[in-house]
Amino acid sequence: MGKSINDSNERENSMNRVIQIKVEMKQLETQLEQLKRELNIFRENCNHEFVKNDYSQQCTKCHLIESLQW
Ligand SMILES: [Zn+2]
Repeated sequence: MGKSINDSNERENSMNRVIQIKVEMKQLETQLEQLKRELNIFRENCNHEFVKNDYSQQCTKCHLIESLQW
């Protein structure tokens, strides 16, 4: 019995893939935070032009959505 070399390699490969996925997720999270910050800066400097619908309004420039319900 016992594990063959192929089984061992497959397990190692899938573990490496897990580590790779976690590294990529971390990178994407960092990138997402940067993009959010960039979008926020854009919105702070935006001269909003809102289009209204029933319950909210959305800026056509920066896509900021504001609720109209109080
Ligand atoms: Zn705007």
